[in-house]
Amino acid sequence: MPKGKVYLVGAGPGDPELITLKGYGLICQADVILHDHLIPTELLQLARAEAEVITVGKFASQHTMPQDRINALLIEKAGQHRIVVRLKGGDPFLFGRGGEEAEACIEAGVDFEVVPGVTSALAAPSYAGIPPTHRDFTPNVAIVTGHRKADEEIEIPNAGTVIFLMGVSNIEKIVASLLKAGWPPQTKIAAVERGTFYNQRVIVGALESFVQTVKQADLGTPAVFIVGKVVELHEKLNWFGRKPRVLVLGTHPEKYTHLGTIVHRPIVKCVGLEDYSTLDGAIRAIEDFDWLVFTSANGVRFFFERLRLSGLDARALRSARIAVIGKTTARRLISFGILADLVPDTESSAGLLEEFKKLDMQGKEVLLPQAAASSEELREGLAAMGATVQEVPVYQTVESEPADVDLERIDKILFTSGSTVRAFVKRFGRIPSHARACCLGAPTQAEAAKHGIDAEILPQSDW
Ligand code: SAH
Repeated sequence: MPKGKVYLVGAGPGDPELITLKGYGLICQADVILHDHLIPTELLQLARAEAEVITVGKFASQHTMPQDRINALLIEKAGQHRIVVRLKGGDPFLFGRGGEEAEACIEAGVDFEVVPGVTSALAAPSYAGIPPTHRDFTPNVAIVTGHRKADEEIEIPNAGTVIFLMGVSNIEKIVASLLKAGWPPQTKIAAVERGTFYNQRVIVGALESFVQTVKQADLGTPAVFIVGKVVELHEKLNWFGRKPRVLVLGTHPEKYTHLGTIVHRPIVKCVGLEDYSTLDGAIRAIEDFDWLVFTSANGVRFFFERLRLSGLDARALRSARIAVIGKTTARRLISFGILADLVPDTESSAGLLEEFKKLDMQGKEVLLPQAAASSEELREGLAAMGATVQEVPVYQTVESEPADVDLERIDKILFTSGSTVRAFVKRFGRIPSHARACCLGAPTQAEAAKHGIDAEILPQSDW
């Protein structure tokens, strides 16, 4: 008797944040994930390290795995595992063959649940500023497949707005069918390509010339088409198209969501060191230090991990005062039960040094746990005040291979550290001329300048 359960989960249309809470929780817990090609790949990073992740996706032209094989695999996995997540683009029951997969479960006696998703049929119009219904324009909407066999007609339902999925290769037939059904040739029609993804494109035209319009624009998949008077609202309500798209290369994108549409491609990652003898020595002598200074949340995390491995906890730090470079680092410290004694208003090494200048640092012992190869600014500044500074590496940043990004559709590139600048230049060469570079402080700005990148420092009110 199979012991597992199959969850048919809607992954949403593209923007990874459009997953439901229920879907999110299941991805985090899954033993096995079978996913389509058309899902936001960021969601797969939520999977447990032990989870088995299998691509069964379909591409427009070729099926990577036939449907009956997918069904059989679902049943097989449910026989071996507790939580089998079948992650499908958009909503699992809308043109996703989710119904067939549920039937296969029933036939095999496997338990299943359906977790609806945000469908591209409605989300792509939303992100294009086109409400499918509107009191002034239409009280109804129809969703139609544009995928037909060569000799099959496309039947046009009688609705004020018609939305077509799977229609890119059939656009000529769609337009001809609409005209034949009596839609006036001047009616507006929109194509939303890669809807809700950062590189969404909206192409608007009139029915009579739309085949030509999309050909010229080289429309690709996936895309939905929207026909009806509501398309006229696109220009007025195009909220997503007006948001700047910001490429964030560091590890923590959450802080920057107010800057625009965040495209997160972590290009560096923080990893532990091979040799912790220096830090372990400092931890053994921790009571000798007057001050501990943390310059990043990662520094805090790796320091406390090592403290724990030494059999100690926050109580070992009771004789020292603790300074942090900014609010994010302070918050990480609180998660270990410690309130920082000093948090500068200006979040930078220079800001921290300004605060230390107000204190008597003469003869003070300072421990500075930070990334290997960090800037010398703090150490030198504190030493100039008469302090004895022991700088200890607690982690290192190494380059990681980010997923592809279309730089032509990026408006701003945010460098969060010197290491992100170096890794970016190595991977992409240069910044496209239309994009603006920005960074968080002077040291990163100087690193960017070394590589010929003119990066503006973001005002602190912005992060
Ligand atoms: N179950 C899915 C639809 C699957 S059919 C859903 O609810 O969204 C596949 C079709 O969905 C594609 O041919 C395309 O028309 C549409 N589609 C899926 N993702 C899309 C996206 N991000 N932008 C535009 N269209 C998309």
